[in-house]
Amino acid sequence: QSDWPVLCIQCNVPLPAMAMASSFTKMLTGRNTAVLLASLGVGGAATSYLMSDSSTLSAEERRKLYPPSSDFPDLRKHNNCMASSLTPAIYSKLRDKLTPNNWSLDQCIQTGVDNPGHPFIKTVGMVAGDEETYEVFSEIFNPVIKDRHNGYDPCTMKHPTDLDASKITSGMFDENYVLSSRVRTGRSIRGLSLPPACSRAERREVERVVVQALSGLTGDLSGRYYSLGEMTEKEQQRLIDDHFLFDKPVSPLLTCAGMARDWPDARGIWHNNEKTFLIWINEEDHTRVISMEKGGNMKRVFERFCRGLKQVEHLIQERGWEFMWNERLGYILTCPSNLGTGLRAGVHVRLPKLSKDPRFSKILENLRLQKRGTGGVDTAAVGDTFDISNNDRLGKSEVELVQLLIDGVNHLIDCEKRLEKGQDIKSPPLHRKLNVLPLQK
Ligand code: ADP
Ligand code: MG
Repeated sequence: QSDWPVLCIQCNVPLPAMAMASSFTKMLTGRNTAVLLASLGVGGAATSYLMSDSSTLSAEERRKLYPPSSDFPDLRKHNNCMASSLTPAIYSKLRDKLTPNNWSLDQCIQTGVDNPGHPFIKTVGMVAGDEETYEVFSEIFNPVIKDRHNGYDPCTMKHPTDLDASKITSGMFDENYVLSSRVRTGRSIRGLSLPPACSRAERREVERVVVQALSGLTGDLSGRYYSLGEMTEKEQQRLIDDHFLFDKPVSPLLTCAGMARDWPDARGIWHNNEKTFLIWINEEDHTRVISMEKGGNMKRVFERFCRGLKQVEHLIQERGWEFMWNERLGYILTCPSNLGTGLRAGVHVRLPKLSKDPRFSKILENLRLQKRGTGGVDTAAVGDTFDISNNDRLGKSEVELVQLLIDGVNHLIDCEKRLEKGQDIKSPPLHRKLNVLPLQK
């Protein structure tokens, strides 16, 4: 090899001996490394590829030129569920697999690689591109699901569904503290790719199918669809400020997962006249179904949620479509944090004293509750008011989760009142119970 002339890669001129050492180092760290190594006769799959005609290789062959170990993401500074569970062995096994819609592991985890942490919540760090994602990449999704959902094991457990709102007790909050109540879930249309992966045509098909179905809603639920593309900037901002509409796609959680592509194409909001029953179309999920109102009547909000959701499902099925669902994972949504019920029941609640108490976070954790700012997941709390909601969505039914939220928020309000009177408060014990049945094999 020492007899070989070393050529400058830019101009093919032999490099002077003095310059060789430093240029060599520079090139080794640069993008021309493989070409240089090839010219020096250091063979490998990648270098021989670079010497050959690249047009003859398929994208898959090209990818396989590099071993999975050379593709493993640097997760050393990350704090999300994906980073905690992804090992080089799992990555190697899954890197070259694809779902029927050509969705890959790297596409699933990109958002978690690009967002090492989140200032307000612990994120999952991965998304699904289609229903099959959860099966094809189960070796990584299952441990992430277990981590995120309080130990729920999709290999052995069966997820319960219960939309009977009459079972709810103590569903009326003290309105001196609770300003508004809301329950939301998501639903995906089987056979169409999810927002990180869908084509423009699929996204428009979701909009068409759902908007057509919603025209069948009647009585207090009847309303109309407002396409984002046809709204003025002012109308949009008004709905966002009033907490009815999703935020514009500035959140890196959304953009890094590919969910803001083609914005605002085929996105919009359907709502009834009262703005108490709302359906978001093509934000993070195909649909988000929301029931909300001012004040503390969570039982009424949940009743409307159950009634509306059942009607929406019926209208979708009447047109020959169905929701993505299976008995292990419940309803299938884009983010693993929303599997199962997809349900986030929450209140905007004023807690001036408790929120300043050092035990606040621990109390929330033990009650399996989550706190956000009142402007949504990416906002910090302003003043003394928080968005408090259930943390789990899988392994407990809708009724159980709403009841857990109600009991938890009532506990927080009790604590607040005790602190007002100068009395002491106690941390409740950790709520760990999962109400699941074993899966019948
Ligand atoms: P989601 O989980 O539904 O996506 P986000 O945190 O992204 O919730 O917030 C979406 C919007 O819903 C935000 O405008 C937020 O203020 C509003 N919101 C959430 N919970 C409530 C609530 N209990 N009362 C009023 N608005 C709410
Ligand atoms: Mg959101």
